[in-house]
Amino acid sequence: MDIIVENLTKRYGAQRAVDDISFRVNTGEVLGFLGPNGAGKTTTMKAITTFLIPNEGNIRVGEFSIHDHPDEIKKKIGYLPENNPLYPEMPVVDYLRFVAELQGIEKNRINERILRMIDVCGLEGEKHKKIGELSKGYKQRVGLAQALIHDPEVLILDEPTSGLDPNQIVEIRELIKKIGREKTVILSSHILAEVEATCDRILIINRGKIVADGTAGELRKQSEGKEILKIRIEDGEKNAVFKALQQLDTVGVADFVEGEENCFEITSKPELSSRRNIFNLCVKNGWILSEMTPVETKLEDIFRQLTMN
Ligand code: ATP
Repeated sequence: MDIIVENLTKRYGAQRAVDDISFRVNTGEVLGFLGPNGAGKTTTMKAITTFLIPNEGNIRVGEFSIHDHPDEIKKKIGYLPENNPLYPEMPVVDYLRFVAELQGIEKNRINERILRMIDVCGLEGEKHKKIGELSKGYKQRVGLAQALIHDPEVLILDEPTSGLDPNQIVEIRELIKKIGREKTVILSSHILAEVEATCDRILIINRGKIVADGTAGELRKQSEGKEILKIRIEDGEKNAVFKALQQLDTVGVADFVEGEENCFEITSKPELSSRRNIFNLCVKNGWILSEMTPVETKLEDIFRQLTMN
C-alpha cells in the first residue's frame, strides 16, 4: 500500500512545523525519516496516521485520502508513537487483547494474533507481567506488538529502538526489515547508523522542509559528487610521486596522508575518476601501487551539512 504525501503544511501559530513537503513511499519500502529535534518528523507521521489534520495538502494511503476516509486509513496503519504510551496497570497479554479488540480483529483470531506477537516481539518471559513492571526495552517491544497486532499494511514507527539495548536493537531492526519486504514502513530516528542499516531510502527533514531524499549511497554522491581515494605508492621518491599525481588531468587535489608512509589522498575533479590514471602512472614509472581505497563521506557529515541552519 503506497503512501503519497502532497504539499503537506502544518502550522502552529506562526510556525510552520511542516512546510509544503511532498514525497512518496512505495509498498515493500522502508523509509527512514531523519532530522534534528523539532524538524517536523513526528508532525508528519501524525498527519499520515490521521491523528492530526494538516492546514494544507493531502496524504493518500493506498486509495484513501486522510480528508475523506480517515477511519479506513486507521485500519490499515500500525503506529508506534513517540514515548510509546501504554497502560502500566495492565498485564501484557490483557493489553494486547484490548488492542486487538479495538482494532476489530475477529474474536476467533485474537488468541492466535496475541501468541504470534509475543513470539515475534520476544515477550514470552514477560507476558504475564504488568506493563509498568517491564524494563524500557520490553515496554518498547509491547509498543511494537500493539502496532503490529492487526497485521497492518502500513507501519509508522516513531523512534522504534529508543531505550533498547544493543542486542534488542539488532533484533528489532531485523524484524523491521523483514516486515518491510511486504509492507510499507516509515520510521524516524536520530541514529544515522540505524537508518542506514534498516532503511531502503532516507529522507532528511530540517525546519519542516525536505533537504535530502535517496539511498545512503545516493546521498553521499549528491553531497560530494567527487571521488576520494586513499593510495599508497612505494619505490618512488615521495615528492616526485606527489608532483606526478598533482599533474594527472583527472586529479583535483592531491595531499599527503599524515603519519602514513607513502600514502596520498586524491580528490578527483567532479564526475571524474582517477583510478586508471594512477595505475598507469605507476606502471610507467615502475612504482608499486600497494593500496587504493575509496574514502567514503560519512553520513554524519552529510547530515550536519544539510541541517546546520
Ligand atoms: P524530535 O526529534 O525532537 O521528536 P520532530 O522532528 O519529531 O522532533 P515535531 O515534533 O514534528 O519534530 O515538531 C516540529 C515543530 O513543531 C517543533 O518546533 C515543535 O515545537 C512544534 N510543535 C509540535 N507540536 C506542537 C503543538 N502541539 N503545539 C505547538 N507547537 C508544536
